[in-house]
Order: sequence, then structure tokens, then C-alpha cells
Amino acid sequence: MPSQLHCLNSACGAVYAIGEVIYTCPKCGALLEAADRDLKLDPDAAKRTWRERRMSNAPLDQSGVWRYRELLGFFDEREHCVVTLREGNTPVLDAPKAAAYAGLDALTFKHQGFNPTGSFKDNGMTAGATVAMRLGMRRVACVSTGNTSASMAAYAAAAGMTPIIFLPHGNISHGKLAQALEYGALTLQIEANFDQILALVRVLAEKTGIYLLNSVNPFRIEGQKTIMVEMLDQRDWRVPDWVVVPGGNLGNVSAFGKGLRELHALGLIDRLPRLAVVQAARSAPFYDYFHNAERAAFVSVEQPETLATAIRIGDPVSWPKAIHEVETSGGVVEKATEQEIADAKAVVGQCGIGCEPASAATLAGLKKLRAAGIVAADADVVAVLTGNVLKDPDYIFKYHTGALKTPWGEGIAANFGNQPVVLPNDAERIAAFIGERTGARN
Ligand SMILES: *Cc1c(COP(=O)(O)O)cnc(C)c1O
Ligand SMILES: [Zn+2]
Repeated sequence: MPSQLHCLNSACGAVYAIGEVIYTCPKCGALLEAADRDLKLDPDAAKRTWRERRMSNAPLDQSGVWRYRELLGFFDEREHCVVTLREGNTPVLDAPKAAAYAGLDALTFKHQGFNPTGSFKDNGMTAGATVAMRLGMRRVACVSTGNTSASMAAYAAAAGMTPIIFLPHGNISHGKLAQALEYGALTLQIEANFDQILALVRVLAEKTGIYLLNSVNPFRIEGQKTIMVEMLDQRDWRVPDWVVVPGGNLGNVSAFGKGLRELHALGLIDRLPRLAVVQAARSAPFYDYFHNAERAAFVSVEQPETLATAIRIGDPVSWPKAIHEVETSGGVVEKATEQEIADAKAVVGQCGIGCEPASAATLAGLKKLRAAGIVAADADVVAVLTGNVLKDPDYIFKYHTGALKTPWGEGIAANFGNQPVVLPNDAERIAAFIGERTGARN
């Protein structure tokens, strides 16, 4: 149980108590990780316990995060009051059409869009909100125009804390912002850009004692690592060859890598899957870094662009963790264009599954990794769909009607488009049209 906050800068190596309100190392500024480095458990007993909890009606057991609480070393059942909306419990789905599209024999999606607010941010937010309550916080804040604010607003509201959301003025995506408003978040539009607001909010947090639930928060990462634990539990601990995930701030891939390494060290799995991260082509600083032979410095992208707004990040905070996880797993980093992402998304839809644009980067990237021979046709692949199809209906409508354009004004072809059809009120003509289009008779 004695988790601590470890500074990840090996030259510093400072260690802090779990109850300290810090987000990065106060000595050197590096990222922190919450870890119990002495944890031991009996693999078979743990697997049995976790399976049995699926039959339980206790809130902790019903959560797809807290069910695996033995791995959440910061958590003490006697002290913490868990904030849960029964997050996790997301399905693994076979998708033969998507597999064929990528040139694979088979493909499984782990769909985090089935979460309470429709994205994997809930897996992390249940942990972040629980720690905030334990620390006695009344107000929590984040800077985000997307899924983080939707998720934080919901968990704060559920716990009786006040959610405060900071947005760059005039840069709002209405679908996700609507959720935050509905969950009652105090929503502040600041006349500054994303990075300036981030700096501002850190000052405000220090001044006012508001707790920050931004993506550097180490407890969110702990919650998100259970996505891999649940996935393996659902596969009876059969380790896939590859886990594919979109990359924005790179918190998710960092969480996956940490979770998988811990499972391996504890003897619950006998090897690590390789991690493949896919970025949007014009928001791909991690791709550039990974493929730069020297890797001297991490160069951020000044003006990141992509319609997949969840991965429109030019300066990803978790890159030092992410590069470690990708390298340790023998992984790769790929990038996909707007057209590739849009088409892949439509194919995920044709599987009856659907996802938001950022999630479809996984399938788009897989297709390229397969074509390059990096992923074998018979590889066992799990791609993580990060967000729900309903997050971005505007994008969908525009794609299918041929009206989707890149942020820099290029048209995106509706290669898998599906236009609505207007017909007169005439049964015969409608029947004839349906026959013509579907060819089926019954
Ligand atoms: C946040 C988010 C991402 C990016 O995840 P990172 O941890 O920032 O790399 C991808 N897809 C969706 C739907 C998201 O909400
Ligand atoms: Zn440090």
C-alpha cells in the first residue's frame, strides 16, 4: 500500500508522500509517478479475485478501475471514499471489416467510448477525483476544450466538488463543452492561448488551493493503466502482439506502458505487447522525435492542426514517459493524414461500432504499419478506441455529405460516404429505389 510520488528524472530521484499537493517535482520540475515499488501479489489469487468481483454489486467491484485496486497502491479502502460512475467495463469487440481494411486477419477494438462520459478520460478521472476528495479539495480545475473537461465536470459533480474549466476564448468545440455545461462546470473563457492558460492555471492553483486535474496529474495515469488490466482480464490474460493507441498529450500510452510493465513484473503476464502510437500528421511532434536518429531535443509543433481535436496537441506533456514506454515495449510511432483518419473512422462505423475522429487514428495507423510490414498480417492486435461516436456528430455529417474540409481548407473525399436521400411521398417509387439500392427482396 505505501505508494509514493517518485520524480522520474533519474538525476534527481526525489520521493514525496502521496498526500502532498504537487503535480510535478518541486525540486527539478520533472514528471512524477505514483507507484508502490515494493508491491507483491500472488498472480493466480489476484486474477481469481478480480474475476469474482465481476459478480459483486459493491460499487468498488462494479467499477472497471477499482476492481483492480490491488494495483492502485495510493488507494486505502479505510481512508478513501471512492468517486465512481462505474467507469471502465468497456467491451473488447471483434471487427472483421476493420481488420480487412488494415490488411489484418483479425482485429479487436477495446472501446473506451462506452464509458460514462464517453471517453477513456473517465478511467483516469475516477482516480483523480477520489484523490482530490481525500485531500479535502472543494474545487477542481483543468484546461481543456474536450473530453477531459466533460469527464472532470461529471466526476466533480458526482462528488459534490465544484468543477472549474478554463478554455481559450473563441476556441470551443460545442459537442464536448455541452457535457461540461450540463454537469454544472464553472466555465471560464480566457483571452489567451492554451499554453498561456496552462501557466496561468498553475499559478491560480497555488494561490487559491484549487486542485488541478490536468493530464500531468499522476493519479489519472494510475486509473488509466487499468484499461490494460481489464483488457487482459477479458482475454483470459492472453497477451496481444500489439496494442495501438492514438497519441495527443501521451498520457494514455504512458499509462498503458506502466500498467503492462507492472503486470509483467508481478508475474501476471509473461511478455509485453508492443505499443504503437498514432498521431495526426500535422500534430505529430512525438512521431518526429521518435524517428529522429539523435533525439537530442523534443521539438513541439507551434500550430498543431487536425480535425481530430482530442489529439490536436503540439506540446505533449507526457512525452518523457511515453518514449520510455514505447522503447521498453519495442514499439513504434506512426502518423496519419486527415483523409486517412476520416476514412478509417467510417470503416469503424461500418463495423457497427463507431468512434470519434481521434480514435480512428488507430485503424488508419495500423493500415500503414501493416503495409510497411511492421505489423504482420496474422498479428494479434488490440486497438484502443478512445472516444464515443456521438462526441463529434458534426464531423460525421460533413464527411458523409462530402462537406468535410481540413482546417487548412483542403477537401476530404467521402470515400466511404453515405448520403441521406430525399424522395417524394410515393410508395412505388420508394420501393423501386430501395430495390435498386439494396438489391434485396423479401
Ligand atoms: C484525450 C484523448 C486522446 C489523447 O490521449 P492522450 O493521453 O492525450 O495521448 C485521444 N482520444 C480521445 C478520444 C481523447 O479524449
Ligand atoms: Zn525531481
